[in-house]
Amino acid sequence: MRARWWSLLGAALLGAGSLLVPAGPALAAPTFKVPFPCGQSWSGQTRSDHSPAYAVDFNRTDDLGDPVVASAPGTVDRVTDLGGTSYGKYVRIDHGGGYTTYYAHLNGFNVAVGQSVGYGKVIGWVGSTGGSTGPHLHYEQRLNGNDIQVRFNGALGLYWGTKTYTSDNNCAGTATGTVNTAGANLTVRSGPGTGYAAVDSVADGAKVTIQCQTAGTTVTGTYGTSNIWDRIGAGRYIADAYVYTGYDGYIPTVPRC
Ligand SMILES: [Zn+2]
Repeated sequence: MRARWWSLLGAALLGAGSLLVPAGPALAAPTFKVPFPCGQSWSGQTRSDHSPAYAVDFNRTDDLGDPVVASAPGTVDRVTDLGGTSYGKYVRIDHGGGYTTYYAHLNGFNVAVGQSVGYGKVIGWVGSTGGSTGPHLHYEQRLNGNDIQVRFNGALGLYWGTKTYTSDNNCAGTATGTVNTAGANLTVRSGPGTGYAAVDSVADGAKVTIQCQTAGTTVTGTYGTSNIWDRIGAGRYIADAYVYTGYDGYIPTVPRC
């Protein structure tokens, strides 16, 4: 009966909104996604001397300031700055059923306590705050407060070692745009600006899938002047001023790169 008692207690602790949750088997785990925008690949490291042991440290090249996104829907219940120790700036999301996720060493916050978040919501940016020696995201999944081995789309992470994880978090949040240059091909660059190398071009009228958007060089194009650049693939950016998206500024459903 002990397990049943704890499950009842857990339901009670969830608060008034959960009083109708029947006692019984534990709620299914949320489907957790990699905590970065759709399409991005990150190196995730686990190690037995990590604290807590099942946490993952995520890195990629030049990751300082990169957006960190919610790995599942939930409610933000901590936005805390521990200063120069431990997690530093961290966010905790309560996913219900006793499941929480932690995002630590952030550079800054993009959410507030009590805020509801969905897949792909940017909650903050990669930093090196707290007891960190270099930029990375320290990420945890917990059940009833206890550190658990992470799963993405139900698949267990690699213990122990380093593995590349590619995000499919909120990929429905991509958008389709239409290139409109009134004739010329539009240059595709390796980064969000005219100073980046030209790597390809797309034809006038081409449909492009916009994975994320970011600020870069200001460009004047068919749709006015804008510093928004659209990422249309790995290392592929085009100036949003030449792309019909249906929005003057950032597309609300598309994450920042
Ligand atoms: Zn860590």
